[in-house]
Amino acid sequence: NLQDTTTLNNGVKMPWFGLGVFKVEDGSQAVESVKAAIKAGYRSIDTAAIYKNEEGVGQGIREALEENELTRDDLFITSKVWNDDQGYESAIKAYEASLERLGLDYLDLYLIHWPGKDKFKDTWNALEKLYKDGKVRSIGVSNFHVHHLEELLKDAEVVPAVNQVEYHPRLAQVELLSYCKEKGIQLEAWSPLMQGKIFEIGELNSIAEKYQKSVAQIVLRWDLQNGVVTIPKSIKEQRIIENADVFDFELSDEEMNEINRLNKDERVGPNPDEFL
Ligand code: NAD
Repeated sequence: NLQDTTTLNNGVKMPWFGLGVFKVEDGSQAVESVKAAIKAGYRSIDTAAIYKNEEGVGQGIREALEENELTRDDLFITSKVWNDDQGYESAIKAYEASLERLGLDYLDLYLIHWPGKDKFKDTWNALEKLYKDGKVRSIGVSNFHVHHLEELLKDAEVVPAVNQVEYHPRLAQVELLSYCKEKGIQLEAWSPLMQGKIFEIGELNSIAEKYQKSVAQIVLRWDLQNGVVTIPKSIKEQRIIENADVFDFELSDEEMNEINRLNKDERVGPNPDEFL
C-alpha cells in the first residue's frame, strides 16, 4: 500500500511513494498540497532549498500531523543542498537553514541536488559529518551519473542511500539503475510524469484502458515494479489521491517490457554533465 517502504542501505525505511513539491508556491499552495497528501495516506514529502517553499511545507507538515494524529516519525522528509551552497562549511550551514525553515529537528534524507563540477566530494564530507553526528537519518545524491558515483565512491565513507534522478518511460536509465542496484543505492524518480508530457505517449493508453487506470497511474506503477521510488507532483487534491492509487493492480512482464521499449534517452530536464 501507499505506506510500503524500501529499506535503504543503512536500514532506514523510505516510502516507495511520495509527493514532490517542485514549483509549488510557498504559503497556502505548499501548505494545502502537503496536507492533502498526508490526509490521503502519503508519508513522504520531497522538497529542496531551491524550491523556496520549505516554510510552507513545514507548516503543512505541522498541521497535518495534528489533524491526522500522526507524529514526526511517521513521516519521511527530504530536502537538498543547492549548487551555490556546495562545499563543506556552506553545506553544513545550508542543512541547518533548511531545518530552520521547515521547523524540523531532523530530515530523513538530505541530498546533494546536482553534482556540479568539482565540489561534490567536499559537500559529501559535510553530509557524512551531519550523518555521523546523528543530525540526519540518511544522506544521498541527486542527478549523479555512473561516473559521478564512481568518483564519489573512491573516497566516500558512507555510500549514498539514494540517487534521485530524472526517470520515466522516455528516460529509463537502464545502466544507472543496474549500477545503483549493484551498489545498494536506491534509485528515486524525479519528473516521473515528464512534468505532464507523459500523456502525449499514445502507446500507454491501451494499457491504461485495460486496467481502468489513468496513464499517470500506469507509469507510476511501472516505477514501483522496476524497484524505483517515485514522487509525482500535483497541487490538486483529486490528482494527489489518483496518483497514489496504484497498489491494487500489477503490470505483466510483457507490459513492463512494452513500456521499457518506449525509452529514447530523452530528458525534460538538464543533463547533469551540463548543469554546472
Ligand atoms: P512530474 O513528472 O511529477 O509532473 C507533475 C505535473 O504533471 C503536474 O504539475 C501536473 O501538471 C501533471 N500531473 C500530475 N498528476 C497528474 C494527473 N494525475 N493527471 C494529469 N496530470 C497530472 O514533475 P516534477 O514536479 O518535475 O517531478 C516530481 C518531483 O520530483 C518534483 O516535484 C520534485 O520534488 C522532484 N524533482 C527533483 C529534481 C532534482 O533535480 N532532484 C528535479 C525535478 C523534480
